[in-house]
Amino acid sequence: MPHPLLDLFPAGTAVDPDGTLVVAGCRVDDVAREFGTPAIVVDEGALRARAREYRTALTSRRQNARVVFASKAFPATAVQRVMVEEGLGLDVAGGGEILGALRAGVDPALIVVHGNAKTTEELRIAVEAGAGLVVVDNEDDVDRLEQLVPRGSAQGVLVRVIPGVVSSTHPHVQTGQVGSKFGLTPTAARRLIARIEASPVLDMRGLHAHVGSQVMDPAELAAAAAPLAALGSFPVYDLGGGLGARYTLSDRPASVDEYVDALLGAAAAHLPADAELIIEPGRSMVNGSAFTLYTVTTVKRDARTFVAVDGGMGDNLEAALFQQRYEAVLAGRMHEEDTEEVVVVGRHCESGDVLIDPLRLPAARVGDLLAVPATGAYTHTMANNYNGYRRPPVVFARDGAARAVVRRETWADLFDRDV
Ligand SMILES: *Cc1c(COP(=O)(O)O)cnc(C)c1O
Repeated sequence: MPHPLLDLFPAGTAVDPDGTLVVAGCRVDDVAREFGTPAIVVDEGALRARAREYRTALTSRRQNARVVFASKAFPATAVQRVMVEEGLGLDVAGGGEILGALRAGVDPALIVVHGNAKTTEELRIAVEAGAGLVVVDNEDDVDRLEQLVPRGSAQGVLVRVIPGVVSSTHPHVQTGQVGSKFGLTPTAARRLIARIEASPVLDMRGLHAHVGSQVMDPAELAAAAAPLAALGSFPVYDLGGGLGARYTLSDRPASVDEYVDALLGAAAAHLPADAELIIEPGRSMVNGSAFTLYTVTTVKRDARTFVAVDGGMGDNLEAALFQQRYEAVLAGRMHEEDTEEVVVVGRHCESGDVLIDPLRLPAARVGDLLAVPATGAYTHTMANNYNGYRRPPVVFARDGAARAVVRRETWADLFDRDV
């Protein structure tokens, strides 16, 4: 019987006769030898297939619609470049993400700029880059843009609206409820829209809403359409991202088709038929194409069985930030029975540095490879240097060949900014 957790790895993931996991034709022991561990390994074919699935699902159902990838979910230039090559635009938050998007070769007209606290410098970068849309989140964004945009040109803007939708997700990733720091309530949005419409250098293109992240029920995401419609008729509506990803066997997020059906249904019911529709998937675009490969550094059989790995909250903050549940396998021993309940912990000086609790594994040994599937989203994003940790590489695997697209940080990198 195939290992049940293979379902959480990219399609086509297999096991060699000796029990070693093989992703995109690459044996994980070879990947570990060549690139070291921890490593974030991406099945490039799966990543491309997901981008195409999103684009086709949306544009086959509605002509005037487009997908922009929410870069913050996996802000590696190579990942953005894949999205650009697959015909998507890029959603960015912050100056660094704008610069990354440009490095990835995106058409600036397809950049959507977000942020609840954009600085003047960041808005200058956006305007000078020719970003197609800046999503205005507050009055101060408008003040700054009016200073920055040269007379005689017009910067396209959307206004971010709080739709008043409370999604069934962790409170830390709810963003559509009244009281959110993101966006404006409809009353405040109305005032700002009137101001933008009177501005000589701003082009009021439309409205934006983003309900939350890791939302499993697409009806909650589609519920943003009606509150936007109440603010009037515009050429563009951006309904954000937020679709949930599958981290464990019990997660059942809607499929891309179901999600797009729900959004387009709500758009048909509430929004102008000729308006352009934008969606901004992040997590659900990238999570399933990647896994993190660790080496077990110690096994302590005491009050609990602690399986400690060579990474942790330095490369995955999702578990610590909002108790995201993961699964894992001993990637060189896929044929063996799970015999032990363990807790998988990281190497950092926090009791909260727990990756998976509990987990069933074969009796783990020092040197075993541990593969955690479904780690594409927000891991590379939030990797950090806690305890002098060197941030891991991003490795693309495709057709039996693996290549680093982001190298591992070096010890020297850690001190590069000392003055
Ligand atoms: C984070 C974010 C997204 C992407 O959300 P996911 O849950 O990763 O799909 C899209 N739009 C905005 C404005 C965001 O802040």
